Amino acid sequence: MKILISADMEGATGVTWPGDVLPGTPQWERCRGLFTSDVNAAAVGFFEGGADEVLVNEAHWSMRNLLLEDLDERVEMLTGRHKSLSMVEGVQHGDVDGIAFVGYHAGAGMEGVLAHTYLANQITGVWLNDVRASEGLLNAHVAAEYGVPVVLVTGDDLACEDALGYAPEALKVAVKDHVSRYAAVCRTPNRTAADIRAAAKEAAPLAVRQEPQNTGPYTVAVEFDAEHLAMAVTVVPGVTRIGERKVAYTADTMYEGIRTFKAVTTIASSAVEEQYG
Ligand SMILES: [Zn+2]
Repeated sequence: MKILISADMEGATGVTWPGDVLPGTPQWERCRGLFTSDVNAAAVGFFEGGADEVLVNEAHWSMRNLLLEDLDERVEMLTGRHKSLSMVEGVQHGDVDGIAFVGYHAGAGMEGVLAHTYLANQITGVWLNDVRASEGLLNAHVAAEYGVPVVLVTGDDLACEDALGYAPEALKVAVKDHVSRYAAVCRTPNRTAADIRAAAKEAAPLAVRQEPQNTGPYTVAVEFDAEHLAMAVTVVPGVTRIGERKVAYTADTMYEGIRTFKAVTTIASSAVEEQYG
């Protein structure tokens, strides 16, 4: 049994504000350890539940956050960026039985600790076939296209609530309770590691590869906080403007859908000016 862990940082234990997740800051240095502890706890739990292989795919920012030296020696880690499927790279090779979303968070425009979808501020909402979408929801659809079920989700309580919509069967562990976008009631790493480890062990039997599901076509709509970003991303083939600050595109597969989303967010972020956004 092979498990893929997609590891994001905003939903990690103790993380509640931008400085905690911005590479290079002192707080980020500290929080890397907390993030690594969550991921390691999940991996150990999956091994206890019968997994033979655990691959961790770093999914936050420049995708260089986890401390490899602190992971269980059976774990393999994919670090660094520019990967075909970004946050869920590795799910596409036909050898993964289940995927875990560790450190996930609510989507742009939703309530939740550090809630966002890809871009921290410039995206104010994303919809997949008219359903409000978080990164978890988008990535769950990508995984489903390869027949891989989401078996575990960790993050704040609202990330877990969000996961009820896209992975009702998955085990969920809330490592903190949302108070505001930058505040949470946090539990200690020892306690969250025990909770995550137990949940991963229990989730392991759910990791059974299924028939690939394609429920496309997928229409993805993206709303920005400024009009010029909507204009800028229309250079991506197939992306059309559907409102002053909103664009949409349709893809036959989620493979194509998530890759176009990556192109849209990359171009949007390069169109942001320091002062006027
Ligand atoms: Zn994220």
